[in-house]
Amino acid sequence: MTRYRDFHRRSIDNPEAFWREEARRIHWHTPFGTVLDRSKPPFARWFVGGRTNLCHNAVDRHLAERAQQNALVYVSTETGIERHYTYAELYGEINRMAAVMRSLGVKRGDVVLIYLPMIPEALFAMLACARLGAIHSVVFGGFAAPNLAARIDDAKPALIVTADAGARAGKVVDYTPLVDEALSRAKHKTPHVLLIDRQLAPARLTAPYLVAYEPLREQFFDVHIPCEWLESNEPSYVLYTSGTTGKPKGVQRDVGGYAVALAASMEYIFEGKPGDTMFTASDVGWVVGHSYIVYAPLIAGLTTVMYEGTPIRPDGGIWWRLVEQHKINLMFTAPTALRVLKKQDPALMKAADLSSLRTLFLAGEPLDQPTAEWITNALNKPVIDNYWQTETGWPMLAIPRGIEALPTKLGSPGVPSVGYSLTVRDELTGEPCAAGEKGVLTLDYPLPPGCMSTVWGDDKRFVSTYWSSVPNQQVYSTFDWGVQDEDGYVTILGRTDDVINVAGHRLGTREIEEALSSHAAVAEVAVVGVTDPVKGQVAMAFVVLRGAQADGDPSERARLATELATTVDRHLGSIARPARVVMVSMLPKTRSGKLLRRAIAALAEGREPGDLPTIEDPAALQQVREALGDGAKK
Ligand code: AMP
Repeated sequence: MTRYRDFHRRSIDNPEAFWREEARRIHWHTPFGTVLDRSKPPFARWFVGGRTNLCHNAVDRHLAERAQQNALVYVSTETGIERHYTYAELYGEINRMAAVMRSLGVKRGDVVLIYLPMIPEALFAMLACARLGAIHSVVFGGFAAPNLAARIDDAKPALIVTADAGARAGKVVDYTPLVDEALSRAKHKTPHVLLIDRQLAPARLTAPYLVAYEPLREQFFDVHIPCEWLESNEPSYVLYTSGTTGKPKGVQRDVGGYAVALAASMEYIFEGKPGDTMFTASDVGWVVGHSYIVYAPLIAGLTTVMYEGTPIRPDGGIWWRLVEQHKINLMFTAPTALRVLKKQDPALMKAADLSSLRTLFLAGEPLDQPTAEWITNALNKPVIDNYWQTETGWPMLAIPRGIEALPTKLGSPGVPSVGYSLTVRDELTGEPCAAGEKGVLTLDYPLPPGCMSTVWGDDKRFVSTYWSSVPNQQVYSTFDWGVQDEDGYVTILGRTDDVINVAGHRLGTREIEEALSSHAAVAEVAVVGVTDPVKGQVAMAFVVLRGAQADGDPSERARLATELATTVDRHLGSIARPARVVMVSMLPKTRSGKLLRRAIAALAEGREPGDLPTIEDPAALQQVREALGDGAKK
């Protein structure tokens, strides 16, 4: 472990010297002066005064050496389309997109909201923003109109880029009606909406704000738009994530620190070399998509594979065939996808030639032991679990194989990555825990390059949310429980807050509760996460109905349960839909009126909640038990 220990210690003891070296990995148009500005903790500014550009580093910089290498391989099993773009072709497409955006008035510092399915234009649009110095905010295509409206009002975009439709598992989802509804709900008036017409659904070009992309692209076919050289700490993007309040937080990222951190992670963690091919099966709407479909592989000169479709269509062998066909070297997905694949015919995996594949990376949710064992044996290649968050932008815990191929330990994503000063702390005293003791995972100041710089438009929220929850210490809380062993390996033991993780996607139970409360029949509601064999967790809602509705007959209550689940679809999108809606006449609460969510979750998982000295009325627990039993009988 000496090499890793030495690397890690240097990165913590003298971050300035460590990251000054790492910064050589990217191109600086103007060199930086101070490596790290610590004058306003907990804010950290990296590579102060340096000017650079993410699009230049991801694309232009490679043109001299790899113009004819594929930069992007796009495969959609939904539409049957496969397209390849060399670095030179990618450069052309990004310039066209940037020119179109500029013709619609987009300039440096403006926000562009990207609401797109997994199509190449999503990547072009992100990099076009980077080129222009505009700030992208990608909203996951599965989110519903009210969700989108909330993000429009917070981000105040100058432009929205969308498509006629997305497609999932053979079903076409019209986007334009959703965008229409979101725009009419939002207070902010977005001047233009740029429409990528995939010809999957009738494109509604009648609304006055809609502009079709294709004719404009033709107009700007041979254009070259110069990169805006941004100061390292200007914002590159805002990505919204759920927290404990109903209001999503805009995670703001910088330019230079992000580029440097991603480039370093490609060597130290992912071992990706120029010319390699990386397939990250995620969505550009999530942080894994931002970092490891778009920016990191391109900054490091790889070919990135972008995939629209599910892992089991046309059959459960599709991903393995992609590995064979495109000679994929690195693959990255979430454990939930593997739990789906595990149920498929093993012959499908065996039939593919997987010799190109070096390593499989997994992140986004806990990797359970049976899945870890299954995939390690089935693939016979290293399987690297890695732990991080939207906020950090790149792995906090992993096996840094590019530094030292430390052994993996089942149940642990590994050891702290370079730059992360990670401490498990006692939740009551804030003191560091001994090895083997459970506590809250925290990061000491400063966060390394690449991590969030603030909450978009709300510096106070950055400090009050992330840096104020551990007693007596100004440290960053991950809001995850963990335990570290003698060798430094950390095991994650679940969230400390009311955030749940459904199929690798983070959802705030408060957001789902707010969606349900908007229904006239609902008096009170508690949403909890319950263990699920495939999705890791699912949401379950416990609802107290208003007077008359509460006495309704069972069929009426069943109808209402479905209607309530649909309400969540409409407000947040189907990913947030509760797996079950259970009617109760009261909810377990403390005497001070706080919902006892953990007790409810325990009952829903068939466990006893243990001692609850602060409970107001123990009869409420019995109510929940009975209501759950009713459901089981049905
Ligand atoms: P998100 O910001 O949506 O990526 O969610 C981040 C959260 O997912 C973390 O705070 C953890 O609770 C969980 N998470 C991510 N990766 C892992 C992992 N490898 N093992 C366990 N939990 C994880």
